[in-house]
Parts: sequence; structure tokens; C-alpha cells
Amino acid sequence: MKLYSPSTIADIRERYNFQLSRSLGQNFITDRSIIERIVEGAGVGENDLVIEIGPGIGVLTAEAAEAAARVIAVEIDSKLIPILSETLAEYDNIKVINQDILKTDVNKIIEEEKAAGNFTGAVRIIGNLPYYITTPIIMGLLESGVKADSITVMMQKEVADRIKASPGSKTYGAISAAVQYYCIVEQIASVPKEVFVPRPKVDSAVLNLHIRKEKPVELTDEKMFFACIRSGFGQRRKTLLNSLTGTAGLSKEDIRNILSTAGIDPVRRAETLNMEEFAAIANEAAACSRRQRNE
Ligand code: SAM
Repeated sequence: MKLYSPSTIADIRERYNFQLSRSLGQNFITDRSIIERIVEGAGVGENDLVIEIGPGIGVLTAEAAEAAARVIAVEIDSKLIPILSETLAEYDNIKVINQDILKTDVNKIIEEEKAAGNFTGAVRIIGNLPYYITTPIIMGLLESGVKADSITVMMQKEVADRIKASPGSKTYGAISAAVQYYCIVEQIASVPKEVFVPRPKVDSAVLNLHIRKEKPVELTDEKMFFACIRSGFGQRRKTLLNSLTGTAGLSKEDIRNILSTAGIDPVRRAETLNMEEFAAIANEAAACSRRQRNE
């Protein structure tokens, strides 16, 4: 069954009386080359576990099952479960879980699959994401310390542009700094809106997020690092002296001293800071905060 063919999608919709849900971000891929690009780009190998977010009618799931040892697909829409039973019937290495990915303990799935001997290789997370929750899905996985090697996902082009942006560019923001702290970001495809059913309003891109084995900077307090990023970009037009004031209860005078010790000009803005500079500020801020607690 050509699951990517618009006529197959139409046939399934009719036979199951399945209404596509806009609110669940249901835009299905109809281009085989994009599906291959995601699975190949993710580097899925024959011993690997693939965790797919939002299988839809199973177009990526089937492709992943051909390449991997095991595939776990997490789909929130219960109306798609009987459809997936039909479309994926020929595969014995797929398990579909009817659950919200935002409420799913992905590390528990990985541990269970490993303990059951279902894979011995890498863990690859893939998906054509429901666009309304792209950022919560990616940040939720990264902040929970997901024990995966890579996350290869399609998203709205504008979000991909922000995630991969470098310091100094207009699109560089909190999401760029946060994702790049956890991952090396690589764009592996640009995808026009015409290849989806139904057609969304925006173009898409596929990012490969290679999860770092070692963090790129040394931090004494990771929470302070993220607090500085949030404050800095929360008021991105303000100078660092002003935007960082109030972070973790630190006063303007504290921030002035912190920036001076970290060697950062207080009139700079967050969008000009690279990861090392954010780390230097965060480490000085953590030290200042500790001193104040001990006073
Ligand atoms: N993988 C299919 C494809 O590429 O054709 C479908 C992708 S579609 C953009 C997004 C899928 O994610 C839909 O099947 C939708 O029901 C599912 N979804 C939406 N919100 C979800 C959530 N919170 N947890 C799990 N799946 C979700």
C-alpha cells in the first residue's frame, strides 16, 4: 500500500469515516522522497530503536520499520489506531502507543525496549511534528535528558530557522541558544507546503538534532544559564544590563559587576552573545547568588 499516495489517504478517510483534525496538526506527507530523506538523514541502522512522534496513517513508521530493529510510534488520536493496525499489519517490529507525546516518559520506553532485547544500537527519534507543539516537544525531550542519539523532525520553516540561527542574526533567540546547548543542529531538507494533505499555509524544513554526548560549555549552575537566556531574550531590545536585572533576584549593581567580571560590555544585547559568553555570565551570576546566600 502506497501510504504516501493522496488516493490511499482519500480511500482510508472514506472507509474509516476519518476526519482530519486541524487542531492536532494533521498534515500528511505525500512525497516518498521526503520520507526516505527523514529516515536516511536520521541515520537509522538495522540495530536501532526508532521512536516516532505522531505516525498519522503510518507513512514514516513503515519506512522506519524497514530500516530499524524496532519502532515505537506515539499517536494521540485514538481514531488513527485501527487505521494503523491495518496499514502496518505486515510489520512485526512496530508498537503503536495511543498517548500524548508531551505526557510520555520516553526514557522509560527506551529502558523497557532495551531490557526486552528489542534493539542493541542507537536510539533515533523521528517525526513530522504536529506544528502547534513543536517547541514543547523538542524542549521537553531535551530538558528531560532523553537518552537518544538524535532527533530528526520536520517542522515549520520559521521555527527551523530560529532553532539553527547563529548569534548576531535576527532569528537568533532563546530557542536557538537552548537547543544548541543540547545539540549540534543540521538542516537536512527544505519541504514545500505542496507535498502535504491537507496543504498547510507554511513551508517546512527537516532538522537533524545530534544530541551532544558532552555539553559545549562548563556550567556551575545549569538553571542559572537558562534563566539568563530567558531574561536576556525576554526583553531582547534592552541592553544586557537592563534585561538581566532581576534574574534570580539579582540587582542592577550585581549585574553590572557580573558583566564586568565576565568581560562583557553591559550595553550589548542578548542576540549578540555566543554560548561561551552566556556561560561566563551565568557562572558569575551563580557565584554572586551563592555569595549573597552565604552572607
Ligand atoms: N507522520 C504522519 C505523516 O508524516 O504523514 C503524520 C504527521 S502529522 C503532521 C502530526 C501527527 O501527530 C498526527 O497524526 C497527529 O494526530 C499527531 N499528534 C498531534 N498531537 C500529538 C501529541 N500531543 N502526541 C502524539 N501525537 C500527536
